[in-house]
Amino acid sequence: MKKTTPSKLQFETLAVHSGTKPDPVTGATSPAIHQSSSYVFRDTKHAANVFALKEPGFIYSRVTNPTVAQLEEKIAALEGGTGATCTSSGLSTNLLAFSALMSAGDEFVATQKLYGGSAGQFRDTFSRSFGWTCHFTDPDKPEDFKRKITEKTKLIFIESLSNPQGVIPDLEFYAKIAQDAGIPLIVDNTVATPYLCKPFDYGADIVVHSTTKYFSGHGQAMGGAVVDGGTFDWMKHAKKFLQLTTEVSGYRGVIFARDFKECPYAMYNHAVGLRDLGMNQQPMNAYLTMLGMETLPLRMRAHSENAIKVAEYLSKHEAVSWVSFAGLPSSPYYKNAQKYMRNGWASSLFTFGLKGGYNAGTALVENVQLFRHLANIGDTHSLIIHPASTTHAQLTDEQKIAAGCGPDVIRVSIGIEAPEDLMADLDQALKTAKAKAA
Ligand SMILES: *Cc1c(COP(=O)(O)O)cnc(C)c1O
Repeated sequence: MKKTTPSKLQFETLAVHSGTKPDPVTGATSPAIHQSSSYVFRDTKHAANVFALKEPGFIYSRVTNPTVAQLEEKIAALEGGTGATCTSSGLSTNLLAFSALMSAGDEFVATQKLYGGSAGQFRDTFSRSFGWTCHFTDPDKPEDFKRKITEKTKLIFIESLSNPQGVIPDLEFYAKIAQDAGIPLIVDNTVATPYLCKPFDYGADIVVHSTTKYFSGHGQAMGGAVVDGGTFDWMKHAKKFLQLTTEVSGYRGVIFARDFKECPYAMYNHAVGLRDLGMNQQPMNAYLTMLGMETLPLRMRAHSENAIKVAEYLSKHEAVSWVSFAGLPSSPYYKNAQKYMRNGWASSLFTFGLKGGYNAGTALVENVQLFRHLANIGDTHSLIIHPASTTHAQLTDEQKIAAGCGPDVIRVSIGIEAPEDLMADLDQALKTAKAKAA
């Protein structure tokens, strides 16, 4: 759970070395998959101490698991946080992250242009089942954020690079709003990854991830992570954040913000959050994700460079009416990409519009041969989807357009193949689609 690797090392080195040490008993160089539910105590005193959080140790894999703990250390090191808590999926990170901060009747503010799954979770289940009200705000009008903050507001939630609209918000601006209001800024850094953007460097307090995407990187393992920046002064705002600043059940005498100086929030998320909500990550998934993360810098480079080439190519294609990608100077978010993302890269996810509308969209998806038609992003393979007929099919036309997923929109996640082959595949599919329509 804790970050112990010195952060003077470069990102590429941390991606390989942090978290994963050779096994002290066997010398095994690859992390062990601890497929164990529970852990034998040395004696009754040891058991009592571990239960009371007086000494670190493993009790039960719902709360901590040695394989998952290695992944947590790697993610904390790469983000520059002080601790992390891994979960079963990206979407369950929001539930874990918020449960430490919110109570029924509380409010939070988020941008409108978010991953569809998060927007739906905030709008429906969080309000209906938990009484957490989300005020959605236009990311292009950041001033509106201030007006939505009330005494009950407990956090601000944004994506560093939004899926699929490609919004890159002015992170420092949002960090300042959060700081002035005495509440944490939570940034979903799934699409950018810490290789392109480190939200903690710009004032974020908490970072969340779907590790399903670029971290695991090969479309092979679901997972999520909540990272503690270790910077938010919970005690200064003690009345707002009672979970962290007063005693909680099961841990008599413990006050997380007082007793765990380095990563109180990550400690709470394990000891209380995972204990009570149970969205722990499985050790096999943690193993696969760690393996993927060793090549994160190499893959993010290839993803980002390929995406710029393919996006430039599409922006000149006769069948394409527009391309929305923060990696191109035509994007309103290009400036923020230059400011917040390594080399101005904008990851590999973008949308474009077809002159032929809905039918051209479905025809393109049917005729690609290398691109895989599926609902994921951040895979080594290039992926394609027509949101209006799939992920966003349930919305009204108006809602689709507001979400950036109108009838003509195609979403791609560019993989690490040779970009020439990807362009040739799109070209033949666009031609076939056009011939069929004629
Ligand atoms: C996919 C995604 C999630 C949800 O993650 P799952 O692993 O699918 O549960 C959250 N945020 C963003 C930005 C995503 O792309």
